[in-house]
Amino acid sequence: MDLIVIIIIGVVVLAAALLVFGFATGSLGGRNRDVELDPPRSKGAARAGAGTAVLDRPGTDTDVEVPDDLSGLDEGEAPPDVVPPRSLRERIAKARAAVSGYLGSILSRTNLDQETWDELEEALIRADVGIETTTDLLTSVRAQVDEQGIKETAVMVEVLKAEMKTRMGGSDRSLRMTDGDGVSVWLFVGVNGVGKTTTIGKLGKHQSDAGHTVLMAAGDTFRAAAAEQLETWADRSGSLFVRGDEGSDPAAVVFDGIESAKAKGANLVLADTAGRLHTKSNLMDELTKVRRVADKDPGDVTEVLLVMDATTGQNGLTQAKEFTDAVEVSGVVLTKLDGSAKGGVVLAIHDRLGIPVKLVGLGEQIEDLIEFDPDEFVEAMFSA
Ligand code: GDP
Repeated sequence: MDLIVIIIIGVVVLAAALLVFGFATGSLGGRNRDVELDPPRSKGAARAGAGTAVLDRPGTDTDVEVPDDLSGLDEGEAPPDVVPPRSLRERIAKARAAVSGYLGSILSRTNLDQETWDELEEALIRADVGIETTTDLLTSVRAQVDEQGIKETAVMVEVLKAEMKTRMGGSDRSLRMTDGDGVSVWLFVGVNGVGKTTTIGKLGKHQSDAGHTVLMAAGDTFRAAAAEQLETWADRSGSLFVRGDEGSDPAAVVFDGIESAKAKGANLVLADTAGRLHTKSNLMDELTKVRRVADKDPGDVTEVLLVMDATTGQNGLTQAKEFTDAVEVSGVVLTKLDGSAKGGVVLAIHDRLGIPVKLVGLGEQIEDLIEFDPDEFVEAMFSA
């Protein structure tokens, strides 16, 4: 009898101990508390939101759009990895770094004294705004600061930003197409290596995606590699392509391209040109000729885009003048801004050439060509 009582007590104690253990580890019935505190990760959770879900990714300042239609996924399968688009602020990190140290120091000052103005001048010159444009800019900002009785450095910086935006704003940055039924021609000019061929490649894809039928004409007959490079871009973007022999007449190649475009129903020709020539003839004379020939029926030159390399900064401006004198340039494409500390040259281009920067190159991939937006650019340059 005693033995039976002892066995019963033993079983009860063991069962109680197992129960207590089970609750403590969460393995019985209840859910693990840690799991409840974690944000939901399943696709069910992603589906719950209407429209698009906006996720904040740590380490970036960019919102990531996740499509709400994930119905193609199997249960338990992770949503596709959405690569966050990098913000302009991140992509012009080098240019921003040129001013950020100065900016921090200027904003920490309580007084708007001569030292502050000197520091600001140094920051702008360091960012390659150029002495002439910097002097002009600061004269105007100082006048506004005096007139409005501004005493705080933070307010002065806002005046400076507004002045920069105004100086670059108000231009028509659209890329024009012909009004008639001819073929629109966009000519790309600039010295060797600035990124003409790459820009045509990227832009060809953009324009094809926008519904145009594009033909790329390899007018840079100086380098055989340029034509090959362009042909690769044409293949990638589904564009038509025309080239000539190495050393052949660039104007003839461009004209062939236009005639071929007309025959095949393409409405836009993107024409590369050389930044250097085989012959002794003058490059600027040659470009003037290319333009004249390209403008003959059925061609209509609606854009002449001067491609400039941001890493050359102020040095590129003198060369740019030669091009603007020779051919009527309608816009600037500023490439390699991703790798340049000389972002301030954007201001000098507007100020000294009087031509709007229409496009900006931020890398070597197709998606690395964007429309230039002065407000966005100034904000990115001056962001902390
Ligand atoms: P072109 O001689 O003017 O036709 O110049 P290319 O198009 O051949 O470009 C020269 C080099 O610059 C190539 O290595 C390109 O990949 C590179 N490049 C062009 N645009 C950009 C840009 O926006 N950013 C960077 N990082 N590299 C670029």
